[in-house]
Amino acid sequence: MKMNIPLLDLKAQLDPIHDEIMAAVAETVDSTCYIMGPRIEQFEKNMARYCGAKEAIGVSSGTDALLASLMALGVGNGDLVLTTPYSFFATMGSILRLGAQPVFADIDPVSYNIDPARVAALLADSAMAGRIKAILPVHLFGQCAEMGPLLKMAGEYNIPVVEDAAQAIGAAYPMMTHGALQWQRAGTMGDCGCFSFFPSKNLGGMGDGGMVVTNNEKLAKALRLIRVHGDISKYQHAVVGGNFRLDALQAAILNVKLPYLHKWHAARRQNATLYNGLFKESGLVEAGHVVPPRPVYQESAALGNGVDYHIYNQYVIRAKNRDGLREFLQEQSIGVAVYYPIPLHKQKCISGLPSSTLSLPEAEKAAGETLALPIYPELTSDMQEYVVDRISAFYQR
Ligand SMILES: *Cc1c(COP(=O)(O)O)cnc(C)c1O
Repeated sequence: MKMNIPLLDLKAQLDPIHDEIMAAVAETVDSTCYIMGPRIEQFEKNMARYCGAKEAIGVSSGTDALLASLMALGVGNGDLVLTTPYSFFATMGSILRLGAQPVFADIDPVSYNIDPARVAALLADSAMAGRIKAILPVHLFGQCAEMGPLLKMAGEYNIPVVEDAAQAIGAAYPMMTHGALQWQRAGTMGDCGCFSFFPSKNLGGMGDGGMVVTNNEKLAKALRLIRVHGDISKYQHAVVGGNFRLDALQAAILNVKLPYLHKWHAARRQNATLYNGLFKESGLVEAGHVVPPRPVYQESAALGNGVDYHIYNQYVIRAKNRDGLREFLQEQSIGVAVYYPIPLHKQKCISGLPSSTLSLPEAEKAAGETLALPIYPELTSDMQEYVVDRISAFYQR
């Protein structure tokens, strides 16, 4: 039987909570309070509590969360920001918009996250000394980067860390604190963490939206100022900021959705476990056709079972003849996508910068081999069996 399986099915998520969402929307509309106000404050409180951070500042998008964070840290013209070459464009775009330049550390081939060993080498490079003004790790696909070693190095060099947690809301990292292992949520480990509520993220709004969380009250204050054009009181502007406000309607919608997030994460993780089993059974792994994702941080009784170490914003395999497989699955009406086909250092817009000539073999290899499969919470086991069956069919041709 032929099946139609989208990469993401927002309708399936909406249906069971439709009335609850519409009530919150109607309530907001009737309030006529559309800019800032109690819905933003409530959502900031809820997000701060959920993440385990002191402060949360609602902003207009994940991109603006990154931009405002770098602005608040004083990153500007001629500065360098150390980041990963394998991410969504906004990671690099926010650096470039401030007149700063990215410095790329290649990724770890298993996690796809920035490799701490490469970071160490760059920090020790005398040509970079004093010029790196921030480190910007990305928690790609829903799993935290190696924050332990990254924060240790950042501390030694006294460089602030901004976490791009757009794909990893709620993801936990096993952090060694005062000799004991404790998990901490994405966004709360560095100086600040940036989230996106783009509809395809695990917590998606119905339009654009973002958030910065931080434990640093001074930074929170700076971010609140930057969010409203640096307005300290009625048309007195202390600094140059932007219009980076989160929409009240989005906040109202996200307030309804946040309590469901843990359940959605768990369903995604369950789907990932099923895929892993199906791929193994199919022989595709043994034959070297498919490499399923391997979570780096496993659940452990010591840290608490049911902790979201990986929230699977994407389930990404490596596949032999990736482009052939992608076309084949698309023809079969199975939604797949490549995140990301071009690493950041190969983007046209930085072709004049020194970083563009770098060789970053792991990022380049990943860009040629990875494929994201449907993993959304409402995906059924029948659908997953069909996806793996079709992938098997491709390699048997
Ligand atoms: C989605 C995303 C962003 C940008 O978020 P927007 O809300 O779309 O601006 C930034 N970084 C990463 C890694 C993302 O996945």
